[in-house]
Amino acid sequence: MPDMPILGESEKKSPIAQVAVIAAIVGTIAGLGYWVTHRPGATPPEPVTEVAPAAAPVDAVPAAGATAPSAAVDQGAPIANAPPMPSAAPAMPLPPAPEGKTHSGPRTLSVTIAGPMETAIVGQVGREVGGPLTQVINRSLVWWVKVPGDLLKGDSLSAVFEEREGQEPLVHAVRFTSRKFGKTFEAFRYQGKGEAHAKFFQLDGSSLEEHLTDPPIDDYEQITSLLRDGRRHKGVDFKAPVGTPVRATFDGVIARKNWNFRGNGNSIELQESGGQGRTALYLHLSEIPKSVKVGDTVKRGQPFAKSGNTGHSFAPHLHYQLMKGATVVDPFVSHKTARASLPSEDRAGFDGAVARFKALMPAETVAGN
Ligand SMILES: [Zn+2]
Repeated sequence: MPDMPILGESEKKSPIAQVAVIAAIVGTIAGLGYWVTHRPGATPPEPVTEVAPAAAPVDAVPAAGATAPSAAVDQGAPIANAPPMPSAAPAMPLPPAPEGKTHSGPRTLSVTIAGPMETAIVGQVGREVGGPLTQVINRSLVWWVKVPGDLLKGDSLSAVFEEREGQEPLVHAVRFTSRKFGKTFEAFRYQGKGEAHAKFFQLDGSSLEEHLTDPPIDDYEQITSLLRDGRRHKGVDFKAPVGTPVRATFDGVIARKNWNFRGNGNSIELQESGGQGRTALYLHLSEIPKSVKVGDTVKRGQPFAKSGNTGHSFAPHLHYQLMKGATVVDPFVSHKTARASLPSEDRAGFDGAVARFKALMPAETVAGN
């Protein structure tokens, strides 16, 4: 699947990627194509964000081990250490759906975790869909649990999704039963009346995603990369159309603009005045008004540029990155956050959507060990 608009860097791929290499050597043309476009050595999309190469192994996010992607601390069944080969290998012979491409309408995924999540998903729906689908599902899971740290052998995952030509799959519903938490989490995608974008809501009507109460961007379709999502990516990516106003998240001074243009595109660095002395990077902007100059002061909430798709960017989005000195900070930890709730006039419509998607999913498994 060439150039899916997956924003930000490709995910960490260690064992799976190795399996992919082996498969390619064995002669799977499709596997080879996948490898070429997804190999971990592929050009890093945002070179500038490699601020501290020495600290590279794990983004130095202050939330302790919370977001450390590779520190898979699995109390209980250590699935991260489970050898991926045996279960991954049988998955390699192409997807179950023989003639590929056109699965029209919603499909159901239902897997039990026995190793890396991607292995289970690819094993059921094939590599071409499974890779991108894992990333999309991951964006929901990270609001509930740490991935992969909290995943245990025996957890179950189901989802309703649709394939889309030339785009990543559209996920309508996700259900995850966690052995670690003894709990089932569910979220359903729904577009409320008058809303520009569909969002995931939980059964209690709360939105799945948190939002920043002083957001760096006015409106966005989805957050496609978070620091906690287990990828080595130092910013939060907000998928939004080119031209969406971008705002200061604190009072500050424009410290730099348009450095490392090839990677960052139009970009602005904002230095917080007082407060915590943080730095905010806004990358891939469509344009920066000529009136915006280094040294200008801006007020929290002030719009000063527009989001875009410039530099090394795969799709229109804002890359928002927060730093304290050379340390990457998670905006969802450092800034104030909130969760929206479903307006009451949308409740009936949402309940209908939930019923439709639940009918497509397997009967609920009981959480427990
Ligand atoms: Zn980014």
